[in-house]
Amino acid sequence: MVPDFDAIVVGGGFYGCLIAVDLARLGQRVLLVERERDLLLRASYNNQARIHQGYHYPRSFTTAVRSRESFERFVADFPGCVDQSFDKYYAVGRELSKVTAGYFETFCRRIGAPIEPAPRSIRALFSRDLIEEVFLTREYAFNADILRESCRMRLQTSGVDVRLATAAVEVEAASHGVRVTLRGAEGEEQVTGENLFHCTYSQINPLLRDSGLPVIPLKHELAELALVEVPAQLRPLGVTMMCGPFFSCMPFPSRGLHSLSHVRYTPHAAWFDGETVPTPPRFATEPSSVGLMIKDAARYMPLMGACRPMDSLYEVKTILPVSESDDSRPILFKRDWGLEGLHVVMGSKIDNIYDVLDEVRRLLSSRKAAA
Ligand SMILES: Cc1cc2nc3c(=O)[nH]c(=O)nc-3n(C[C@H](O)[C@H](O)[C@H](O)COP(=O)(O)OP(=O)(O)OC[C@H]3O[C@@H](n4cnc5c(N)ncnc54)[C@H](O)[C@@H]3O)c2cc1C
Repeated sequence: MVPDFDAIVVGGGFYGCLIAVDLARLGQRVLLVERERDLLLRASYNNQARIHQGYHYPRSFTTAVRSRESFERFVADFPGCVDQSFDKYYAVGRELSKVTAGYFETFCRRIGAPIEPAPRSIRALFSRDLIEEVFLTREYAFNADILRESCRMRLQTSGVDVRLATAAVEVEAASHGVRVTLRGAEGEEQVTGENLFHCTYSQINPLLRDSGLPVIPLKHELAELALVEVPAQLRPLGVTMMCGPFFSCMPFPSRGLHSLSHVRYTPHAAWFDGETVPTPPRFATEPSSVGLMIKDAARYMPLMGACRPMDSLYEVKTILPVSESDDSRPILFKRDWGLEGLHVVMGSKIDNIYDVLDEVRRLLSSRKAAA
């Protein structure tokens, strides 16, 4: 029997949307299902909006080099979403930092990421006894609201069938591919697809578990991203302190505020999927850590003490266990995971999309060659 769709994509975040569009452009009949009432409402919105260009990964050369390459592609592909209106500085701490200023500068030059010493007026904003060096870099932010509209338009023009407020609750083998049970306002229905791409980020394992399929070891953190109004002098700036228990503060374009995160205070809780798949803590019950973030950031940059907390976004951040030790962000791509035709995808950061799309195309080519 011919399946209802060539491909079913579960999860309407940035990854699910772009995979669905790419498949449709290749001529496939594609269904995209998203549990929330709209696209890109979860991790693809609730994140720091940094378009990585490698600076963040001095301990993982491969991740840094891939980011460098993908940065230019993302900026060219999504120009309307990119905010370049600020200067981005990276500061290196004298104590607790896992890199020195000399190492950081050499590393950036090796990966070809622009770097130069910050002007004196900017260095004067930092505490000289705690900061070894400050560098001017080139890093941008994306506007997640505009990114959502860009995804929506691409889905429409490529003819993807999109169902919002619809959750995939179980996946099983079908005669030619995979059958998925969908639950929406109208009740439950089953649809079949030759391939199913499971792109639900922090929710990968609950669907696998509920389908009686093997779980993938993943680490999750309940993360708080504070949104703050920075003092006027800091408005045209983004600042990240490398590389240890420090802060990062940069424009968050979709709200016209700055995001503030802190390696120590942003994670509120951590848990692992392994033999069990624990239920995440409830976001609403978490007291904010923004006061601690501001207090610590102000030690390094006194003006940060004048930040006004406006809101906090809470989201589950999911990483592969390998990323714990080297802070790398490899993609997760599991072909035929427990079922032929079920492929599990997690991009780890926005710009990894290009590696994922290459992998999807390789998969289709190998299928075609085998047929
Ligand atoms: C705090 C934080 C900061 C980050 N900072 C950055 C950054 O600055 N730069 C960067 O590049 N990356 C960053 N990331 C990582 C980035 O956000 C993710 O890599 C990316 O958004 C993942 O996209 P996605 O589409 O896989 O996930 P999501 O956007 O979470 O999409 C998954 C979708 O699946 C849906 N879903 C779940 N279960 C089901 C189901 N059963 N049926 C149907 N739909 C379902 C969800 O509702 C969701 O919309 C950060 C992440 C976090 C959490």
